[in-house]
Formats: sequence, structure tokens, C-alpha cells
Amino acid sequence: MREITVNLHMHTRYSDGTGLHKDIAAAAIRQGLDAVIVTDHNVLVKDFEGYHSEGGKRVLMLIGQEVHDQARDPQKNHLLVFGADRDLATLAENPQALINAVREAGGICFLAHPHEPAAPLFHETAITWEDWNVQGFTGIELWNHLSQLKYALTNWPRALFNVFFPYFFARGPDLPTLAKWDELLASGRRVAAIGGSDAHALHQHLGPIKKTIFPYDFHFAALNTHLLLDRPLSDDSNADCELALASLGLGRGWVGFDLIAPTRGFRFGAQGREQEAVMGEEIPLAGGVTLQVKLPAAAETVLLRNGQKVQAWKRAENCVRTVTEAGVYRVEVYRRYLGARRGWIFSNPIYVR
Ligand SMILES: [Zn+2]
Ligand SMILES: [Zn+2]
Repeated sequence: MREITVNLHMHTRYSDGTGLHKDIAAAAIRQGLDAVIVTDHNVLVKDFEGYHSEGGKRVLMLIGQEVHDQARDPQKNHLLVFGADRDLATLAENPQALINAVREAGGICFLAHPHEPAAPLFHETAITWEDWNVQGFTGIELWNHLSQLKYALTNWPRALFNVFFPYFFARGPDLPTLAKWDELLASGRRVAAIGGSDAHALHQHLGPIKKTIFPYDFHFAALNTHLLLDRPLSDDSNADCELALASLGLGRGWVGFDLIAPTRGFRFGAQGREQEAVMGEEIPLAGGVTLQVKLPAAAETVLLRNGQKVQAWKRAENCVRTVTEAGVYRVEVYRRYLGARRGWIFSNPIYVR
């Protein structure tokens, strides 16, 4: 299988970002990404979809959208929509109707920043997901890089520190989101996880100082979604977009915090009596399944079944565990970076049935 690194969930001048699609492509190429997914608010700017090249390198740009009810105050229920063949913003008022329409339009969708906090100091409300009764969504944005900053906006000195030194604020997915994901998985549903940057490259005035929060380059080197593909990317951009979205929809990959160390090369797989599986796939239990974790560098690794710890390794590069119980198995990996224990890798599950 081929691995690609994808950065997703970002905004341009077509909504509330400050860059253009070409700025995003240039930054993505500089940061060595294979693909980006641009998701402006309530607008679908399909013209920019396809390969963008510069200096002999290229990046695949996909165009989705972040849909929400603009009349709702305060804002709630942001939905990331990828691969739909039409603009679905007019359906934002009813999340279930919107999700149904995404499927009818051939797309996939993820609940964005489902538990992000408020930041009253900056008059930022908590843009959470409220309608948990919805059915048929593809997955959740397990970790949103920008919304983690909101935890650090509790007072001016702390806010300024984190704006000027943005390597400190991100720690891992919101704990309520991790718990909710496990709850949804335990109910028997398949729920894929993605990591989003929510890059805006906002120009902010902080007294006399003008600062960009945060440049696309910074986000693209930070929180990525890594995907495994059946074949390498080709020169056919339409086919490659479909290939990447199929993998994203299955959850055939992991959320990697590449800012603290590259996560490329991580693998979580299962070997059964007659079958093999990778993240996002099912495998029959049939008497026992051997789970294998391979890390790009030694780190603290936790294997979970239905949200409960099965085994932890303090410092391992290869972890193996044979399991004899059906369940939803996933892996969390942690590393120390700048004085704190931080989430590094969150795998999608393997469904042992
Ligand atoms: Zn949003
Ligand atoms: Zn956004």
C-alpha cells in the first residue's frame, strides 16, 4: 500500500481565510504534502481542483466545503463535506437533511471540531456539534489544530505567548471527542477519524503588532491525516481524488501530529487465520487475530479495545498483541515535546468482528 500525507480543512479568501488557492498549493508543496483539501465556508469553488505544480513538484488539491447554518447564533454544527458533486450550503439548517444530501451527491462528511471550547477574551463562542442524533455521517474531526489554541486564550499574556510561540499549545484531541468517538464505535457504527488544521492565515492586529495566525506553512507541517492507498497517485487527477476520498471515508489511515516528529511510516495492521486488515477495515476473529503496530520512532503506545486500554508499551517501535475478543481496536501514541506529553498518532480502528 502507498502512503500519502494529506492536510485538510482550510479556508481561503472565498470565505474567512486570507490566502488564495495558489498560496495554499505553494505552501503544501514547500511542506512536502501529497494532497490538501480546501473547505471554505458555505461555498464550493471547484475550479481549483486537480494537480498544482511548482519547481518540478506537485500537490493534489481537492475542494470540499464547510457547511453551517449562517443564520444560527451562536454558531453550531459545522460539517466538513468532501467529494459531493454540488454545493450543499442551502441545506445547512437541518443537519440530517444535509448529511442525507451529501450521500446522495456522492460525498462523505465529517462533524467538524465537535467539542471546541469558547474563548470569551476574544469573543469566540464554542462552535460545537449539537445534533448527536444524526445518522449516516462518515466520521468526525477527531483533532482540530486551530481550535486547540482556544484553550490557551484564557488571558492576554498566555494568548500572546501562544500566538508568538505556536509550538506549545497543541496537546492532543479534545478528551470529550475521544470519548464520543469510542461511544459511537461501541454502538456498532463505523466512524472514521480525521485531523484538520482549520488554517485561515488570519491577519490580526495585536496593539501595534500585525501577526498572521497562523501561516499555511505552519499548519501544513503540523497536524496531518495520513492515508493508505491501493495504488500510487497517477496523472489522472479525477481518479486520484476519488482514490484519496475512498481511503478517507473508510478511515484507512491515522491522524499524525507531524510537528513534533514525522509520523510517516506508522502502521497498524491485523493478521487473522485467513485474512489481513489495515486501519479502517474489518477482519473476522475466527479464533484469534494478531495486531501489529509499527512506529517510525520509539514512543509510548497504547492499544485500546472499545475505548478501554488493552496494553501499553512505555517505549516501543514494534508492538504485537494477539487478541481473542471481538471489538473495535485502535492505537494512541504519545511523545514528550517541549516539556509536555503530547498526542502524536491516533490510528483509525480495526474492526475485529
Ligand atoms: Zn468550523
Ligand atoms: Zn473551518
